[in-house]
Order: sequence, then C-alpha cells, then structure tokens
Amino acid sequence: LENYGIDIWSDDNFFIENGLAKINYASKPALLDIVRDIRAQDFKGPLLLRFPHLTNKQISKLFTLYENAIKEYDYKGKFNAVFPLKVNQLPNFLLPLVKSGEEFGYGLEAGSKAELILAMTYNNYGSPITINGFKDKEMIHIAFIAKKMGHNITIIIEGLTELEMILEVEKETSLPTPNVGIRVRLFNSGGGAWAKSGGIDSKFGLSSTEILEAYELLKKNDLLHYLTMIHFHIGSAMTTIKPLKKALKESGHIYAELKNLGATNLSAINIGGGLAVEYSQYQRTTQYHLQEFANDVIFTLKNIAKQKGVEEPDIYTESGRFISANSTVLITPVLELFSAEYEENNLRLKEVNPPLIEELNELYEDINIKTALEYMHDSMDHLESLLKLFDLGYIDLQDRSNAEILAQLIIKKSINLLEIEDYEELKRIDNKIQEKYLLNFSIFQSLPDLWGINQEFPIMPISHLDKKPTRSASLWDITCDSDGEIEFNAKKPLYLHNVDLEKEEYYLAFFNVGAYQDTLGMKHNLFSHPTEVNVVFENNELKLEKIIESQKIIDILEDIDYDTGEIKNILEKDLDRNTYEILEKYLHENSYLKTAWSYNE
Ligand code: PLP
Repeated sequence: LENYGIDIWSDDNFFIENGLAKINYASKPALLDIVRDIRAQDFKGPLLLRFPHLTNKQISKLFTLYENAIKEYDYKGKFNAVFPLKVNQLPNFLLPLVKSGEEFGYGLEAGSKAELILAMTYNNYGSPITINGFKDKEMIHIAFIAKKMGHNITIIIEGLTELEMILEVEKETSLPTPNVGIRVRLFNSGGGAWAKSGGIDSKFGLSSTEILEAYELLKKNDLLHYLTMIHFHIGSAMTTIKPLKKALKESGHIYAELKNLGATNLSAINIGGGLAVEYSQYQRTTQYHLQEFANDVIFTLKNIAKQKGVEEPDIYTESGRFISANSTVLITPVLELFSAEYEENNLRLKEVNPPLIEELNELYEDINIKTALEYMHDSMDHLESLLKLFDLGYIDLQDRSNAEILAQLIIKKSINLLEIEDYEELKRIDNKIQEKYLLNFSIFQSLPDLWGINQEFPIMPISHLDKKPTRSASLWDITCDSDGEIEFNAKKPLYLHNVDLEKEEYYLAFFNVGAYQDTLGMKHNLFSHPTEVNVVFENNELKLEKIIESQKIIDILEDIDYDTGEIKNILEKDLDRNTYEILEKYLHENSYLKTAWSYNE
C-alpha cells in the first residue's frame, strides 16, 4: 500500500507528485504548502480544509448521471435533487454548495426546525425544499410560512398525525398549503451499515393501510391535489444496488396504485439517499458504477409506469454523503513518535550491567544487514525477560530504562537496514515493532464515526510520499481517553515514515470527512472543532477564504453555560496582575497543543 490506496478513494481529486500530496485542480497545489501558509498565519493545531470545487464537481456529476440515463431511456419525468442538511449544515460548506447548485435547481432537505429555517433562508428560490423526520405542529406551521415566502416546499409525512396537523394548520391559518409527500414503509430494506432506516420494522414511514388512510383523509378534506410525492430511504452508503431495485419496484407500484386511485397530482418518487462513498483505502467496497445506479432507477420506474399505464414520475434524490464527503480533508500535525525518547544519548550503561543488557548492547553494536532480523527478534525476547526481572526485583529502574532504549534502538536500526533489503520480511513482524504517532487532534471531535462505528477513513501523510513508509503505525489523539486511538490492524495495515520531528514536519491527512463528521463530533475533553478554511481557486489562483479559528477556551466554557465573568473573577482574585494577564491570554487561545516541532520554524 505504498500510495495509500489513492487510486481507490480519491476519484482523481488528489494525486502524488515529488513526494507530496497535491490537489488535482487548477494550479495543482500541494496540501503541505497550504498547511504551511495557514500555520504561518499562526493557526496551529488540526485543520479542516474544505474544497468547494469538489462539492461543485459532485453536484454536477449527480445531475449529469441522471441526465444521461433520462436521455438513454427517453424518460419523460424530470430529475431533481436536494441536499440533506443533516449531513453537513456548516456555513463554510453549505453556502458554496447552494451557490454551486443554483444552475441545476439543486435544493435542500430539512429534518428539524433549525434546518428548516436554514433551508428557508439560503435555498435558491424555485429549487425544491423537502422536509423529512418527525414534526410537530409548529414545524408544520413554519413550512406553511416557507410556502408563503414562495418556496417550492414539500412536507413528507412520517405518520398520520402529521397529516392531521397539516389539516389543522390549513384550517387555522390563511397561509398557502405546501405540497404533501408520504414516506412509505417498504418491505424491502437496504444493505450497508445504515440499513435500519428502511424496511418493514423501520422507525419511519407509513404502512400500506396508513397510506390508504392518508389518501382518504386528504380526499375527504378536499386536499388530495396537494399530494405530489412518495418517498423512501432504504439506508445510507449502499454497497450494492440490488436492494434499491427492489425498493424502486415496491414504491413504483405504490405510486401507480395511488395515481390510479385518483391522486392525479401525484407526480414524483423521492428515492432518498444511499449513494456510497469509497472510504476504504484497501479495496473497493462499492459494487456498482454510478451510471449503472442512475440507469437502474430510470429503467425500473419507466417499466412500472408502462405496466400500470401511468405517467413516468419525476425523480428526487437526497444523497448527501456522495455530495459532501470528499469536500473536506482533516490535517493533523504529528506531535511525537513514541520511540523518539529512546535515543542513544539517553543510555546510561553501568560499569557492570546485568548479562542480558550486555547482550542487548552487543546486538546493537554488531547488527548488520544479515543479522538484522534475527537480532530484532532476540532483542524483543530479551526485553520481555528483562521486564519480568524488573517485576521480580532483580534489576533496577536504570537497567530497565537501558533495556527499553537498547531494544528500541535495535528495532530502528534493523528497520533501517531491512527497508531496502527485506521489506517483505519486515512486514511480517509489523505487530511487534509498531511505532505510535501522537496526533494533535481529537478523534471524538473530528472522526466520531471512526470512534462510534469503526468507520474507515483514508489516511495518508501529505509529504514523504517518495520514501518507503517502514513503521507499522498506531495513531493516538490528544484526548485523555484510551478510545482516542486508531490501533494498528494487520488486516488493514497503516505504514508511516520514520521521521525526526525535531528536524522535519510531518502531517497526516484524513480524507472524505465532509459528511456527518462535523456536527456529530463532540467536545470530549473540551476540544472543539479544528480551525477550518475554504480553499478556493479563482482564475487558477489559490485563495484561502473564511478562516474560522478553532474556538477559544473561554468561548468553549461559555458554550457549556459557564458564567465566564465569574471564572475570570475567581482566577483574577488569587493572582497578581502580571500573572493573571498571562493566564487571560491563554483563555483566549484554543485548546489544541502548540505542536512540538514549532520551535524549529
Ligand atoms: N434522506 C434521508 C431520509 C436520510 O435518512 C438520509 C440519511 O440517512 C439521507 C437522505 C442521506 O443519505 P446518504 O447518507 O446516503 O447521503
């Protein structure tokens, strides 16, 4: 895995040249140059780089896929898409998305009152807004207000009570009525990690009996003409297309049945999200081609419409992961390599050392390319025995320190010797010779899906890519929590470089983090969001826009409802003026670590 699987996950958005990870766009800058530029402005710690040109690319790709399919099958319905706000609501991501979407009529999907307010504020007029999720009367009232503002809005009901609330608001106000959609609870559910949102036992949607009741209720109240859409969502990140085909058939028949019953304005099927993103850097996990996906949707719905003699429905999709994941890259400075403290100048050998330590020292001095592997094994055995001797009280702390240093020195020296000669052999003992890399970020804040559900993200250093990575790596974040670790996994091994951080900088990038991670992240240990920047290109020139610095300590405390005036008063009371002023300066900085190598800058 010498190029970190970039051909699998990057969709040609990034490439490696002269040892650097570069952006495959416009002036093709290196990520390292961007990072240096931002750090030179005194923004240290982890960084979130957002790339609006990639969001634009994804939107355009989505519409092109469906346009191709519509053309190929001479389909009569129209294609529409909305971005589900829950996937990423942050302004640096969302505002460029809305701008990019304008030419396509790309809309927004809201799942809560706050998201609905965002959609009403920023959506391009005329582009659709859909509302999913559980609603109360207040939320429905807000949707009526959005309609009055002129928005093209559809309330998708999750249950009959929501329909009853719509009828109430319609009677109680003089506001115009939005379109109504019905989320159907399909028998066929999806595959993949998030399949629970579909299927007959799903939390969401109406059963067939309820769909018929909804139809009757609308008809009785003379509002049937507002029923325009049926909706389903069988799960996020579908890895195969088969469940979608089944769901399309089932929903297509429900659409046709309702139309033939008398729902004459019913004109659209909303197929939810589900388009997968390639998160693995080891092997492709998505088993379909995107064009195949769009073709299947069009082909299946066309056939059902023909079979039942109804109009071919307009299609809506709500894929958010596909649109947003690749827009954001997390870059974390490496603060420390665990073995860095095991340096030769820390060795304090005694005049007379325990025999095993003498042996370790000889191994270290005699090691050569032929003996490297054997000596490395021996040193690990010796270290284990010496640690046991320490537990039994036969060697002292100085001996133990010498043993640890010598063993690490032997490992490093052997790796250096073997990396050219016997790289494959080296890999066979990965587990035993891991290096631990301390990264300046919080997994809980920046990669919550990695912590919560073992979601993979492609990981790659942004420099040194012309050198062989020889260290099997475990990654540690800076939270005080053992879960804040990405352990070395021999089945999906990550190798990094053996770097001397006192002489060189080293950053790791996590790709495809633009979907769900930002707002699911939590302030464990009170680490808040990293500093973020929009990387934009104007006339081929790179510009860093909208730098949002990671939150200051004092603001984090205010966010969790502390009285920050009181905090300052208490701290100030017990300190002289000068010392308090220093402390106050720290309160106005963020809580990430100032990176260890920065004194070299
Ligand atoms: N629409 C609905 C109703 C959803 O529940 C979801 C996500 O679960 C989406 C759209 C977004 O789908 P995806 O994550 O596949 O982009």
